[in-house]
Amino acid sequence: MSRRGILVVVSGFSGVGKGTLMKRLTEKYSQYALSVSATTRAPRKGEVDGREYFFRTKEEFEELIRNDMLIEHAEFCDNYYGTPREYVEDQMSQGRDVILEIETQGARQVCRQYPDALTLFIMPPDARTLLDRLKSRGSETEDKMESRLACAVREADCVEQYDYMIVNDDLEESVDQMHGLIESQHWLVSRNRDFAEQIRSELKVFAKGE
Ligand code: 5GP
Repeated sequence: MSRRGILVVVSGFSGVGKGTLMKRLTEKYSQYALSVSATTRAPRKGEVDGREYFFRTKEEFEELIRNDMLIEHAEFCDNYYGTPREYVEDQMSQGRDVILEIETQGARQVCRQYPDALTLFIMPPDARTLLDRLKSRGSETEDKMESRLACAVREADCVEQYDYMIVNDDLEESVDQMHGLIESQHWLVSRNRDFAEQIRSELKVFAKGE
């Protein structure tokens, strides 16, 4: 029985721990392909071009848009972010589940193009924990932190557009919950119509005594 890859869209506020969650998920389960986005934001300490992001100038990014090389793109906190098309389509055609860790405007664009994408929103256990995590990350200036919080307020209004939420309190639990949700998606009857049809026709053959 062949398995089609699932497109999984993961969103959540800055500082909610999406990066750590994705890292652990892909370490623990080998079936996932994590898409690397392009962005115009500057690399943070320790980030490597081509690993966390493809870091691009505004002009280079606009060229990617013009050449239709992105599935979606959005402006977030004064920078562009976008998902390169080729990797996602290659991996899905090879049957791998592809994860896009993107913000809410991009998620909407993806859902229009891939209506059977699974959408997940990562929540903090409470707002105070989010603020503490954002502060302890130390990668944002006071200014930028305010703008990230303002974005979080806007993004909080979009939670209802997602299929499931994951409350990221315990990392291992969140990883397993996410894996379980994706696995169960593979078993949706609507994704397995060909298999059902195959069983039906085999049964008919047996019923005729052949
Ligand atoms: P950060 O600058 O903290 O790495 O990311 C800021 C926001 O941009 C996060 O919500 C992240 O999920 C989102 N993001 C990262 N890559 C993409 C992308 O390719 N497209 C969109 N729309 N958002 C992205």
